[in-house]
Amino acid sequence: MNSGEFRRRGKEMVDFVADYLEGIEGRQVYPDVEPGYLRPLIPASAPEEPDTFEDILNDVEKIIMPGAASPACTELETVMMDWLGKMLKLPEAFLAGQVGEGGGVIQGSASEATLMALLAARTKVVRRLQAASPGLTQGAIMEKLVAYSSDQAHSSVERAGLIGGVKLKAIPSDGKFAMRASALQEVLERDKAEGLIPFFVVATLGTTSCCSFDNLLEVGPICNKEDMWLHIDAAYAGSSFICPEFRHLLNGVEFADSFNFNPHKWLLVNFDCSAMWVKKRTDLIGAFKLDPVYLKHSHMDSGLITDYRHWQLPLGRRFRSLKMWFVFRMYGVKGLQAYIRKHVRLAHEFERLVRQDPRFEICAEVTLGLVCFRLKGSNKLNEDLLERINSAKKIHLVPCHLRDKFVLRFAICSRTVELTHVQWSWEHISQLTTDLLRAERD
Ligand code: PLP
Repeated sequence: MNSGEFRRRGKEMVDFVADYLEGIEGRQVYPDVEPGYLRPLIPASAPEEPDTFEDILNDVEKIIMPGAASPACTELETVMMDWLGKMLKLPEAFLAGQVGEGGGVIQGSASEATLMALLAARTKVVRRLQAASPGLTQGAIMEKLVAYSSDQAHSSVERAGLIGGVKLKAIPSDGKFAMRASALQEVLERDKAEGLIPFFVVATLGTTSCCSFDNLLEVGPICNKEDMWLHIDAAYAGSSFICPEFRHLLNGVEFADSFNFNPHKWLLVNFDCSAMWVKKRTDLIGAFKLDPVYLKHSHMDSGLITDYRHWQLPLGRRFRSLKMWFVFRMYGVKGLQAYIRKHVRLAHEFERLVRQDPRFEICAEVTLGLVCFRLKGSNKLNEDLLERINSAKKIHLVPCHLRDKFVLRFAICSRTVELTHVQWSWEHISQLTTDLLRAERD
């Protein structure tokens, strides 16, 4: 949608809301619909080609308004999470379908998803051990629990460990910044010998620093064998898995108990929208379910409805699936794939420009939209270059450390980015580098 159409549609939306408010006395305060009303009214998967804005808005009146407030909000979310799961070719077990044991929920952030997974895993292991040894107290189990992630995992994983009150150990990553079986196995064996109880592993697909990928096909079977919950954090990279050429990066997801990524990062859905799937929804619900009388409703125990309050920390929730519905339909799967591919192409173009300049080196494999690079030379030199780039305020780069190296990160992330922006950015960096090296010499 260009800015002209956006202005027009935005004004139409104001009319839509004003009409609704003017006619509100003619509407019922409670819907007539039965649980499950929405799924048969919309297609089973996202459209390949874009739908028109008029069609989507007509469907809001026809499909959403009769289920005003919670039924529509919950049911559209379940179906949108199935649409998205199908786009990613997630194993059937993660989809809700009509009778599935799994399903998706929209969390506010990847941090929340990791925390929810850790807390559910913690409850599951405590209950399992107490069932086997009824004398064991929760406290005695908790102090022995240990979780793992790679040394490249996002800090939110460490925070989940802190909040969950369990030890979290960093597994040293390999030369490509990936967690491998051998390193995990080594720490695991040592911990078990010391009487600790390994229960939870976070594998990252697309690490924050350099977009590396933990080896799921190696790590997954260990988690299953050792009865450890495997959570996958693909906060950024997950969006790319809708493209067949990147889907292999998700191979091994079948070993996971939960999987999460942020459509608000790279799939054109506005912040916030963090998509989380579990294979067994009872694992989440069982861990967090409380039913005070003021939250009881007539269909509660029918087993027909999903009650997302048991899947998340807050009780109240926004109607975030509307954003997904609009975006998936306005772009179509093909439009979303084209968007991802363009970003990856532009990242490779930037990589090509860096590689042509002998003053620089590429520091990690470029797989998606992130290029890690640095000037050959000291960390101080690279810190000075970053300082010049960010002080000029034409582009903004966020650095990272890869082992002992200070590294610059060029991330393609704007909806409106074009090849000319990337080429201009490189010329800019190149010129600032020349200035820096000249100043160093003088
Ligand atoms: N995990 C990874 C791999 C990330 O890159 C990020 C943020 O960049 C996060 C988790 C945290 O995301 P959120 O802000 O959704 O909690």
